[in-house]
Amino acid sequence: MTWISRPSRKSKQATKIKTFEDENVGLAVEQATVVIPDGTAIINSDGTASHVDISSEQVGIIQSRVTKDSRGLATSDAIMTHNHPGNNGFSPNDATFAAGTEMSELRAVGDHTMFSRDPNRVPSPIEGKHIYRMTAPTTKNYPAGQSMDASFHSATKRLSPKYNKLVKSGKISRWDAEAEINHATLKSMAKRWKFGYSRTIIREDGTIVSDGVGL
Ligand SMILES: [Zn+2]
Repeated sequence: MTWISRPSRKSKQATKIKTFEDENVGLAVEQATVVIPDGTAIINSDGTASHVDISSEQVGIIQSRVTKDSRGLATSDAIMTHNHPGNNGFSPNDATFAAGTEMSELRAVGDHTMFSRDPNRVPSPIEGKHIYRMTAPTTKNYPAGQSMDASFHSATKRLSPKYNKLVKSGKISRWDAEAEINHATLKSMAKRWKFGYSRTIIREDGTIVSDGVGL
């Protein structure tokens, strides 16, 4: 499979990330890796259908890649990627984990084509393979995990009614509504906390749709 990620730089890090994503995008259980610029995977972790556990020791290893300048502004060279078997976007745990480890980039990949086999589905405008990205803010630090989590839940609550109405009127499926609520939530948080966020969809016909904030 060569369709999935298109790294902007053909670095060893980007190549390693791409290979991992291509190999794991369709798996039924989550797999995660953290890669540094020389292409070394400093973390590899196996998970379940819905999550992957990162030990406190592994968190320490990721945090050891962070340097702070004289103003206390954090920079990391670590990129983490993992697959989402359900093809959903970033969870509150993902967002708080990215903030807590101050990693350079968190990525998630998923494959939505399995849903197209349901004969009763509402046609989905966002069907395809997905790449989600969160990149660390460059002009300030991430907020504390608690603020990130609270911000996630309040944005979701605020943005849900609009999409729930569309489900009730049969315009979109429940899955698509959840996906759009999640996407709108991440965009809202990215604006508020100045991090980068994007969702890229690669449809079966090869067309690519990308949308986000600061990326
Ligand atoms: Zn995740």
